[in-house]
Amino acid sequence: MEASKAKRSVAIVGAGASGLAACKHLLARGFRPVVFESGEAAGGPAAAAAEEFPRHDEVAAYLDAYARRFGVLERVRFGSKVVSAEYAGVPEEEAAAWERWSGNGEAFGDGRGEWLLTVQHRKSENLQTYKFDFVILCIGRYGVASVPTFPPKGVPEAFHGQVLHSMDYSSMDHTAAAELIRDKRIAVVGSGKSAFDTVAQCADVNGLVWGVNFQNLTTSRLAEVMVHKPGEGLLLSLLATMLTPLRWLLSKLTEMYYKRHTPMQRHGMVPGYSFSQSILACRLGILPKRFYDRVDDGSIVLRRCDPSFSFCAGGLVLDVATGDHIVDADVVILATGFQADRQLRDIFVSPWFSKIVAESSDATMAIIGYAESAANIYPYEMMAKWVAHLLDGAFQLPSIARMEKSVVEWVCWAHDMRRCSGNYFRKSCIGTITTWYNDQLCRNMGYNPRRKKGIVAEWIEPYGAADYADI
Ligand SMILES: Cc1cc2nc3c(=O)[nH]c(=O)nc-3n(C[C@H](O)[C@H](O)[C@H](O)COP(=O)(O)OP(=O)(O)OC[C@H]3O[C@@H](n4cnc5c(N)ncnc54)[C@H](O)[C@@H]3O)c2cc1C
Repeated sequence: MEASKAKRSVAIVGAGASGLAACKHLLARGFRPVVFESGEAAGGPAAAAAEEFPRHDEVAAYLDAYARRFGVLERVRFGSKVVSAEYAGVPEEEAAAWERWSGNGEAFGDGRGEWLLTVQHRKSENLQTYKFDFVILCIGRYGVASVPTFPPKGVPEAFHGQVLHSMDYSSMDHTAAAELIRDKRIAVVGSGKSAFDTVAQCADVNGLVWGVNFQNLTTSRLAEVMVHKPGEGLLLSLLATMLTPLRWLLSKLTEMYYKRHTPMQRHGMVPGYSFSQSILACRLGILPKRFYDRVDDGSIVLRRCDPSFSFCAGGLVLDVATGDHIVDADVVILATGFQADRQLRDIFVSPWFSKIVAESSDATMAIIGYAESAANIYPYEMMAKWVAHLLDGAFQLPSIARMEKSVVEWVCWAHDMRRCSGNYFRKSCIGTITTWYNDQLCRNMGYNPRRKKGIVAEWIEPYGAADYADI
């Protein structure tokens, strides 16, 4: 059995948090995967800025120590970018007609299918192609920048200073980044995680403002009873509907607390959506401590620029229609987000795969990562455990019809969440149902999903990585 596993070749693309977890759990089950990583270090762009959370370099050091501790690093080929993935062996028409995933519901199917990965290695002009029985994509969602379009006269080239995306800023080393912003007027565009992290660095502050211990509000079973879940059934659906007023009340109380205890109203920083909507949509903004002190002392200036902005020679134009409201700047950092699906779609040679992978799944491939939760690393580890169990033959997948039914349940749930969150919901957000999601993975792997000692702990205490440590 161990010898046959070693013969099964498995490729993991990406050595971020999810790729490292996938490699760790496959090694633990006797596989010898190869990890291709386009960068020069493990850990991906995992980042955090607030005092209560580890800093970027601490997260990177933790992931590096994790990779060393579990023998993952020696499986990683750094400087190796997978430029394309092609499924070969089974014709697309035959794969499209399968009733069971991979033909028979097992990870490796009948052994005919294989993946051809074309890889660009650093220091080599030539592309190399490798064959694998199974591929795990762990390429993340933060690799392709999203940049708004600008009116012809207001393009970034019109600006005499420097423009860069937050992705390029965060990939600079500390010295170069400090040099770029030292004694400069920095304009950061955006109001998400990247924007707050970048502003915090520029203003040299740390701490937390918009964030009670929201883990308790979102990751206990009790909290999950109050929200709708994919495929929940009539009883749980009724319960979630009946508890909606309680959820609304908790949300309003939280909003009142923050409006009272922070100067967000005075600075026009009250979001256009409720606390409840921000939890549903994974849009909980985390501000650094003393953020508003720095706003008061003028180190940080907050300006609204909906719905669009453009560039002029001296900085940014916030009112594109009138050309008014100019923000003078030397450097503009666009914290305008990422094209999360692009790199996933672009990696496939076959347009058919490109389409179905974004919508469902098929054929000896798994994707780990991508989903977003209150904290991402432990859901990724659960996904990695699930894939390692599947590859190890611990369970078989149900029929494709059953899986498609499950996909439809998730799609309907996502529509519902989008409606409830005022269109802010992203399909990747599992923040309010992470335990529900992990329950399903546990059941598939043959473990009891109720993992706490005592009924009170089971319902009240937030679930975390330690609860699943023995899987
Ligand atoms: C500004 C910011 C702040 C964040 N803050 C937090 C936080 O506080 N808490 C939290 O839990 N999460 C946070 N996140 C999210 C967290 O960074 C991601 O959830 C995590 O990095 C995802 O891990 P991953 O392994 O799936 O992907 P990534 O970390 O993106 O890793 C993907 C890896 O794949 C490599 N790769 C991509 N394509 C290829 C290819 N074709 N060939 C070879 N290698 C490839 C990349 O180089 C990269 O190393 C934040 C993200 C951002 C952008």
